[in-house]
Amino acid sequence: MQKINQHQKEYKEQVEKTKVPLGKRPDWLKVKLPTGDNYTDVRKLMRRQKLNTVCEEARCPNIAECWNHRTATFMILGDICTRTCGFCNVKSGLPTELDLDEPRRVVDSIKELKLRHAVITSVNRDELKDGGAFIFKEVVRLCREEVPDCTVEILIPDFKGEEHAFEIIMQSPPDILNHNLETVPRLYHAVRPQAKYQRSLKLIKWFKEKGLKTKSGIMVGIGEKPDEVLQLMHDLVGHGCDILTIGQYLQPTKEHLPVDRFVTPEEFKMYKEEGLKMGFKVVESSPLVRSSYHADEHARVIF
Ligand code: SF4
Repeated sequence: MQKINQHQKEYKEQVEKTKVPLGKRPDWLKVKLPTGDNYTDVRKLMRRQKLNTVCEEARCPNIAECWNHRTATFMILGDICTRTCGFCNVKSGLPTELDLDEPRRVVDSIKELKLRHAVITSVNRDELKDGGAFIFKEVVRLCREEVPDCTVEILIPDFKGEEHAFEIIMQSPPDILNHNLETVPRLYHAVRPQAKYQRSLKLIKWFKEKGLKTKSGIMVGIGEKPDEVLQLMHDLVGHGCDILTIGQYLQPTKEHLPVDRFVTPEEFKMYKEEGLKMGFKVVESSPLVRSSYHADEHARVIF
C-alpha cells in the first residue's frame, strides 16, 4: 500500500495503541507451502501468458491447494490499482496501459487449465471512462465462444456506481456476478476509503434485477463486531445476494491495517448457519475462505 491516507494512518495508529497482543497464529490458519507439479505448471502458464492472478498478488493462503487443483483467479487490467484499500497487497498508482489482447490470453489459459468454472477479477481502473468494463465483457464473450461449457464468474470493482459500465458488462453477462463488500460500513474509511457501502449494495441489486446470480464476500478480524456482520448479511440478502464468502483477514505486510482478532471456527460456523436462515443459497464461511475459494462448487450448487 503506497499511499496510505490520513484516515487510514490515524485508524492504524489507534488500533495498534489499544490492541491486545494476538500471539501466534492459531493452528486453523496454518497453510502448506506451495509446491507440486500442478502448482509449478500453473505458475509457468501465468508467466508465459503474461497474466496476473489475485492468488499471487494478494498472497492468498490457499495458493498451494487451489493451484494444485489447477484453479486460479485471473486478475485483469494490469497489476496497478487506482485505489488504496487498507487491506490489499496490490500496488497502488496510476496505470499506464490497457492490454487489449489480455482477454484472448485469459481464455487460452482457461482452455489450457481445462477449467469448468473460471473466476476473473481486476484492479480498479478509475482513470478509464468505463472502469475497464469493456475488457471484462470481452473475456466473458470470448469464453462463451471458445469454452462454452465453462461457467464464468466475474468479481468486479464498483465502477464508481456508473450504470453505463454495468450496461457494458450486461452485453455479455457472466453466470455469477461477484462484488465484495469487504467489511462493515463503519470501517470503510480505513478499509475501502474510495468505496461506499450503499453504492456497493446498489450494484448487487442492479445486477440481481437483471437476472444474474450474485455473490459477495467479506473479511472478518479487521475491527468489526459480530452484530455488525449480521447486519451486513441482512443488508446483502435484502439487496438480492445469493452467495456469501466470509474469511479471516490476514495482514499482508506491516504497512497494512493490523489484524484485530483471530475469529474462531465456531464464530464462522455461526455466520454460516445464520446466513442460510436469512436466505443466502450458499455461505462459505471459515478462516481461510477467500472470495474465489471453492467457487466452482458454489456454481454447481446454484445451477
Ligand atoms: S482462494 Fe482464490 S485467490 Fe486464493 S489461491 Fe484459490 S483461486 Fe487463488
